[in-house]
Amino acid sequence: DAPFDVQVIRKDFPILHQKVNGKPLIWLDNAATTQKPQNVIDALSHYYQQDNSNIHRAAHTLAARATDAYEAAREKVQRFLGASSSSEIIFVRGTTEAINLVAQTYGRKNIRAGDEILLSNLEHHANIVPWQMLAQETGAIIKVIPISDNGEVILEEYTRLLGPRTRIVGITQVSNALGTILPVREMTEIAHRHGARVLIDGAQAVSHQPVNVQELNCDFYTLSGHKLFAPNGIGVLYAKREILEDLPPWQGGGSMIRHVTFEKTIYSDPPAKFEAGTPNIADAVGLGAAIDYITRLGMTNIERYEHQLTEYAMQRLAEIPGLRLIGTAPHKVSVLSFLLNDIPVEEVGKRLAQEGIAVRAGHHCAQPTMQRYGITGTVRPSLAFYNTYQEIETLVEVLQTIRFR
Ligand code: PMP
Repeated sequence: DAPFDVQVIRKDFPILHQKVNGKPLIWLDNAATTQKPQNVIDALSHYYQQDNSNIHRAAHTLAARATDAYEAAREKVQRFLGASSSSEIIFVRGTTEAINLVAQTYGRKNIRAGDEILLSNLEHHANIVPWQMLAQETGAIIKVIPISDNGEVILEEYTRLLGPRTRIVGITQVSNALGTILPVREMTEIAHRHGARVLIDGAQAVSHQPVNVQELNCDFYTLSGHKLFAPNGIGVLYAKREILEDLPPWQGGGSMIRHVTFEKTIYSDPPAKFEAGTPNIADAVGLGAAIDYITRLGMTNIERYEHQLTEYAMQRLAEIPGLRLIGTAPHKVSVLSFLLNDIPVEEVGKRLAQEGIAVRAGHHCAQPTMQRYGITGTVRPSLAFYNTYQEIETLVEVLQTIRFR
């Protein structure tokens, strides 16, 4: 692997080289969305300048090119996630759509009144609300895996909550509010012993560490392209082939059918069966380009660099008097959630923004996690591989000046 030179890497991200409020932009809102390298931007314009077409393979040359590019992107995702077949990769809008798809297909088919859905106290609303909607429809019951004060799931409690009625366990691999890395492989194994399926929300994980769905042995895995240096509006649902074979379709329409009469429709095989209508071709191509980019950098290089940067940032923040870190699990990545004295988090966010520093301040779409700590929100800087030690220094300096309000 080539040495990890963050200054060289930053040159690939044009958006990072600008001033905001007269100060160099410091982008520390990577858990909300990530910035795009030039090759992703180029892939989008190349697609629209050269290849744009709907995807009907045989129709004409551009259609064939667009189809090839779209399917090549699927294969890149397959390799990136370590799936055994590209037919296990379904393109969706993002993690939110992926989880809704699972709830509305797998859930409606397999979950009945009195069945149990197990979610952790670290879930994003996207891995709560779709299950609540299903529970309301079916009479299923949602149970919550509690977390410790430092933000880790309590495994003994998890094991205790699993039972013969548990149909699915929905867990995030990395908490977007606290940065905790969950032991998802172990949790999956335990769930399987109880006959439950496992959905892992990978939205916050895939940009920070290598992931292999076959090693995790999860049944479903989701990601959002925009959090992986790719465009908005494209994401992925991975599901094991044998599960996909067995699932009813979700949305009906063009492309997901083999034959239609007014009496009856015969559906396509997966993944087409779950991709009704004209898909988001260009952004899938953009996702493929983003995967090319981070694969070139090397996910283990990214992981190593970010691990050190996160540890350093946690240490520096902990030194600031009046700063209270929320989420101090030893296994964590990227996210640095905190409160500063009794200053409202929105105000801290605004003061940082005046200095060119972009962070999120609020509940981070994880209100039940906030409730666990008796708070309504945090200030949340979140790191990516293009962030630097110097940026952490600046963040700490600015926080030192605003801690007295
Ligand atoms: N899960 C997690 C852990 C997230 O961080 C997010 C985005 N903040 C989502 C799900 C939802 O992703 P999207 O809005 O891209 O569908």
